[in-house]
This record gives sequence, structure tokens and C-alpha cells, in this order.
Amino acid sequence: MAMLPSRVSIREVGPRDGLQNEDPVPTEAKVRLLDALSGTGVGRIEAVSFVHPRAIPQMADADEVWSAARRAEGVRYSALVPNSRGAQRALAAGFTEIEVVVSASDTHNRRNVNRSTAESLDDIAALIDQLHAAGATAEVIVATSFGCPYEGDIDPLRVAGIVDRVLADGADRVAFGDTTGMGTPPRVRAVVSAVRERHPDVPLLLHFHNTRGTALANLLTALELGVTEFDASVGGLGGCPYAPGASGNVATEEVVHMLHDMGIDTGIDVAALIEAARLAERIVGRELPSGVLRAGPRTQLTRFSAD
Ligand code: ZN
Repeated sequence: MAMLPSRVSIREVGPRDGLQNEDPVPTEAKVRLLDALSGTGVGRIEAVSFVHPRAIPQMADADEVWSAARRAEGVRYSALVPNSRGAQRALAAGFTEIEVVVSASDTHNRRNVNRSTAESLDDIAALIDQLHAAGATAEVIVATSFGCPYEGDIDPLRVAGIVDRVLADGADRVAFGDTTGMGTPPRVRAVVSAVRERHPDVPLLLHFHNTRGTALANLLTALELGVTEFDASVGGLGGCPYAPGASGNVATEEVVHMLHDMGIDTGIDVAALIEAARLAERIVGRELPSGVLRAGPRTQLTRFSAD
């Protein structure tokens, strides 16, 4: 086995990516979930997105959620924005870590924002300037990096080309989304290698979906390639917009449970995280697709009874 990192940084995306893909829940429930997650020891939380309320009603109360949340010392909170107006709102709310998204697949990007990937990259260049001028950092998330539901396979060199462009435009970080769970270990290897070859020192963050059960295998592959930053969603919160009923984001407690048994530190208290996953399940009112939530951690022994 390759040398594995001794520590991994998890960004919890349940409050934003998760809840954005569930039926709308009350503001107060979002705040409770954020607060529970802030107390798990997780180092980073994607808290909200500042999107048009008609486009995404699930995030219409982003300002209220964020101002009511109890922010924990030492946790880095981020917000996702789709455009300059969203960036203004996020900055006004006090966020200093901001994410923007572009799809590696032209068709997926057009379906999402009615613009080509190239047009979105021009918008993002201006957004990066806007964020930097206000003292915030800009992370570019490259969606459909491991496959597109409309186009199929995405050439890793196309993904690497997008990274070239956004880094030249000043992006502080890059992330890669397996938006519809099409990633497998060889595809993870191909994308990470293509990007690393051109940008050996840029930290990469990977965002896996477990739509087809490959998320933990993909994560292990990335660990072996030296990747140390991952997104995950408490309870596996957030369905899959393209396949109703299918699971979306990999569950944070499944990731953390496996990493800890491998001797890899995350700073997260698994018991507190499972409590937060139970809360997430109550909030959305459906069974969440997390094995660790169902079965408990492997160290939780079953009581033997002779009668
Ligand atoms: Zn996701």
C-alpha cells in the first residue's frame, strides 16, 4: 500500500449541498444542524449558498441561518455563490472563503446556468477579482470532473485545462466534484494525475458522490495519491437530482469512521458526528443512506445474551 497521509481535512457540506438537494426545511432546523456540526470537531463547513430564492428555495433563508448560527472557534465556514450578486451577499454576511462552480461538461454547464463552460470561466475570472478585492478567497469547484450524465466520460485533460485557466485567473483553491457519482478508482487516478502533472503544488479537494457505491473506493485511491482534502455530507444528506431515490454525497461518518480505523486523524468525534447525522435524518424526515448511521461504528459491540 502506498504511503498514506496521517491527517485528512474534511469539509462538511451537509448544511449547503445536502439540504439544497432535499425538500425545504425550516430555518431553525438548519441552524440546529449547523450548530451540531460545529461541535463535532470538523475543521471546515460549507454553511450556505447565496442563490436566487426562486432558483433554489431551499437556500432562501441563507442570511437568517448564518446570522443565527453559533459559529465555533477554529472552524472555517464557507459559502457557495453563483454570481456577482451572490458574492456581494456572501461578503456582506462576513464570509471570507467563497466557492464558485463550473462544469467540465459543456452540456451540464448549459443545463445548469444556460452558458458554455468557456462563458462561465470568463464570469468566474471577474468573480475571483471581486472576491479578492474584498479580501476573500475564491475556490473553484469543477463539477462533472469524473463523468457527465449527458456527455459521458470527460477527458481528464479538459479538467486539467480548466484548472490551468482558473489558477491563471487567481483561484486560491480547486475542487473536483463527482456530481453524479460516475467516478471509479482509475478515473480518480487519471484526473488527479493530469492536474498534478501541471500543478504539483496546488492543494486538491475531492467531492465524491456514492450514487453507484464507489465513493469510499475513490477516496482511498485519492489518499494513495496524496490527496488530503475531501468533502462529505453528514448522513449522506442530499439526494441525486438526476436519479430520484439514489444516494448523493458520501456520508461524513462513513468517511471518518474508515479513516480513523486506518490511523488517519480528522479531528472529528465520530459519536458527535453520528448524533448530528441522527438530527439530519429527523430534520429531513427520511432514512438517510449511511451505513455507519444504521449499524453504528465497528467498535460498538453487540451485547451477547445467553437467554
Ligand atoms: Zn455533492
